[in-house]
Amino acid sequence: MKNVKLYENKQVLVLGLAKSGYAAAKLLYSLGANVVVNDMKPLEENETAQSLQKLGIEVICGEHPLTLVHDSLFMIVKNPGIPYTNPILQKAVQMKIPIITEIELAYQISDAPFIGITGSNGKTTTTTLIYEMLDMGHKKPLIAGNIGTVACEVAQMAKEENYIVTELSSFQLMGVSSFRPKISIFLNLFEAHLDYHGTKKEYGLAKANIFMQQTENEYAIINAEDKDVVDLSKQSSATKVYFSTKQKLVNGASIIDGYLCYFGEKIIHTKDIVLPGEHNLENILAAICAAKLVHTDNEAIRTVLTTFTGVRHRLQYVGNINDRLFYNDSKATNILATTAALNAFSGPIVLLAGGLDRGNGFEELKPYLTNVTALVTFGQTAEKLIATAKEVGIKTIEHVDNVEHAVPVAYRLSNPGDVILLSPACASWDQYKTFEVRGDIFMDAVHKLK
Ligand code: ADP
Repeated sequence: MKNVKLYENKQVLVLGLAKSGYAAAKLLYSLGANVVVNDMKPLEENETAQSLQKLGIEVICGEHPLTLVHDSLFMIVKNPGIPYTNPILQKAVQMKIPIITEIELAYQISDAPFIGITGSNGKTTTTTLIYEMLDMGHKKPLIAGNIGTVACEVAQMAKEENYIVTELSSFQLMGVSSFRPKISIFLNLFEAHLDYHGTKKEYGLAKANIFMQQTENEYAIINAEDKDVVDLSKQSSATKVYFSTKQKLVNGASIIDGYLCYFGEKIIHTKDIVLPGEHNLENILAAICAAKLVHTDNEAIRTVLTTFTGVRHRLQYVGNINDRLFYNDSKATNILATTAALNAFSGPIVLLAGGLDRGNGFEELKPYLTNVTALVTFGQTAEKLIATAKEVGIKTIEHVDNVEHAVPVAYRLSNPGDVILLSPACASWDQYKTFEVRGDIFMDAVHKLK
């Protein structure tokens, strides 16, 4: 860990006490800062705040008093989820007090270089692929952030020879100003999180922070097919490495004669890759760029790609029962994600879908339903999905109570060679606490079929 003096005797406010806020507060305290922690949850119910208080950190809970922002405040470390409309943050912006997120702190103290991954879709899959490839190639990666341990904690124990691999949301990236990863990846940009960012432009600019501080000594891996991403990357001085599933590239990763190639070198044939879906080829090409840039050998990359069946709940291969292939894509909580899943298969599909009704229709799903031979639906949106399925001429439709009941029904409606796919196109909250719970119930029901 680097001996950072920046925070010594400085007043720092940590806003929001999720796991990352807790880790940031402890770290800042150990760096000699005068830390004040502010969280909405009342102290009596707030175990995290209580434990920080025991360490000697000042905690203010149950309210966000504006007096927390004052002239001698050096910095605010905010939870990424707190919007900038929060009055404390508005006052800080007015007073030009820097506002950062925990990843910036992690970067400042880390001896290990960072590999950061952003984009609207595919972050978790790409992050996991890179981690697995580097691990297989003995490159000592550490996974940090959303799908691992809090970045601050990982950074404290990371050594120079490690690589910290971390997915980064637009919310996290909005709060960085010195973060300069060795390798950044920007996968794609779709319209999302407009409630937080206001416009797609602002959302894109927040994400672009991933490569804004990079110099020509660092690399930015860019999706050559995403115009928005390419345009944003022009503002970065990083050395660009491109990937594309559509055009042959000599300056990056692309598909040539069925082979995934890196600067023209054949790495693996697409037929040997286990992970289905065109969108996953994008994620894989991006991951290959990162792995090759840190000199991972091709054999390690191939081993991962011939065995990796997907991240849990993301078009994850569950198994084969009497020649039916089961896939769990419970993470598909919107139409766009389900269209990507449906696109991944060329043969007949029995689709399990439905869930929370957000008031939208399913018109955009229609062009992707051509291979769907049967629909098994559940949840609040069942009636809407039935109407959509009828409109495109799907003849076999069943309305069931829940995901558990959907599985044996789907099996009964299927034929050998079919894909049976849970890709709900809806959030789970009408029936299940999280998409993970929904996916686990699906997988349990599949295993019971055996
Ligand atoms: P994130 O972490 O960005 O949410 P995930 O890897 O968890 O991304 O994938 C979420 C969903 O997004 C998947 O179920 C898949 O349907 C879709 N997806 C994944 N990668 C891509 C991509 N490169 N382009 C478009 N959609 C994708």
